[in-house]
Amino acid sequence: MLDLAAEHAALQPALDEAMHAVLTSAAFIQGPAVGQFATELGEYLGGTRVIPCANGTDALTLALMSLNLPAGAEIIIPAFTYVATLEAAALLGLKPVLVDVRPDTFNIDPAAVEAALTPRTGAIVAVHLFGQCADLEALRQISTRHGVALIEDNAQAIGATFQFENGETTYAGAVGEIGTTSFFPSKNLGGLGDGGALLTRDADRAALLHQLANHGQSRKYHHQHIGLNSRLDTLQAALLRVKLRQLPANTAARQAVAARYDAALAGVPGLTIPARDPRSSHVFHQYTIQLDEAGRRDRLQHFLKSCGVPTMIYYPLPVHAQAAYAYLGYRAGQFPVAERLCGAVLSLPIHPLLTAGQVGYITELLKQF
Ligand SMILES: *Cc1c(COP(=O)(O)O)cnc(C)c1O
Repeated sequence: MLDLAAEHAALQPALDEAMHAVLTSAAFIQGPAVGQFATELGEYLGGTRVIPCANGTDALTLALMSLNLPAGAEIIIPAFTYVATLEAAALLGLKPVLVDVRPDTFNIDPAAVEAALTPRTGAIVAVHLFGQCADLEALRQISTRHGVALIEDNAQAIGATFQFENGETTYAGAVGEIGTTSFFPSKNLGGLGDGGALLTRDADRAALLHQLANHGQSRKYHHQHIGLNSRLDTLQAALLRVKLRQLPANTAARQAVAARYDAALAGVPGLTIPARDPRSSHVFHQYTIQLDEAGRRDRLQHFLKSCGVPTMIYYPLPVHAQAAYAYLGYRAGQFPVAERLCGAVLSLPIHPLLTAGQVGYITELLKQF
């Protein structure tokens, strides 16, 4: 699915050097690399402010904390996502309100968001699933029209851009009030351990998020808010600075792999290639095909495995079917698209070092099947 050892081997001298510098400085918490990485990532993302934190789940928690919502406020979340999106809201005593996704892009359906709005809605969380932006045009309009904050869970789409009708092009994560991202090792910008960040264009919100991520303190031993201990380690920041320099080339390499898959698989019967939204670039965190039937999807996965090709199912179970969220009271059949996708999707290997030969081998097997 990915080859982190090979990717890191190519960067070994720079990673060694970064690690050694942190080791000798002994500034393990809030060392200079943290701020440097934040500045560099912010520049890469078109001049947005970046607040590093411990992981992408904490980023979501901190984003919701910064909105200062009343207990029980409703947070609109797509039914087809990684469970972390829900977890943050649930842990804070907010009420996750699930809505269905679009069958083509897998992303939150703006019409369903609109239908789920109530006077108690506190925020809309859009997830840019698999590397492509959700419908930010519609979501931004809904958010502005109803005065409800838009949070972008950008753990999977760092570096993707979205073009608005007015011609403006913006990086994913920099459109809503707050964007969140993750540097989990397998993400497009992955550290060598856990890490995450928040994105915002607003200076005051950035200051608040900085405090919330560091025990709510405005200065040392002066605590303005109940916060979290959620900091990005200096070591991870130093390593991420090295990996950030590689991100544009890695994104282009992922896109080239996706284009090869597209060319080989378009029109193969019984299989649907990922839909492209012409307004969004796609950074292909995952290349996810759909099979027309769950039994066939599982047989295909088994067949590919027997030929040495790993695949993954993101996600086998919609969030409302998870035991932990039974208390929300959702039933099977309430989110038909998300439920169908869980039985239909299959993510193929994709990473910057996947060769044309490997893609050719995989696509030949798919055609054979
Ligand atoms: C990975 C991921 C997260 C959580 O990030 P962590 O750094 O693992 O906490 C949240 N949302 C989505 C969509 C993700 O893919």
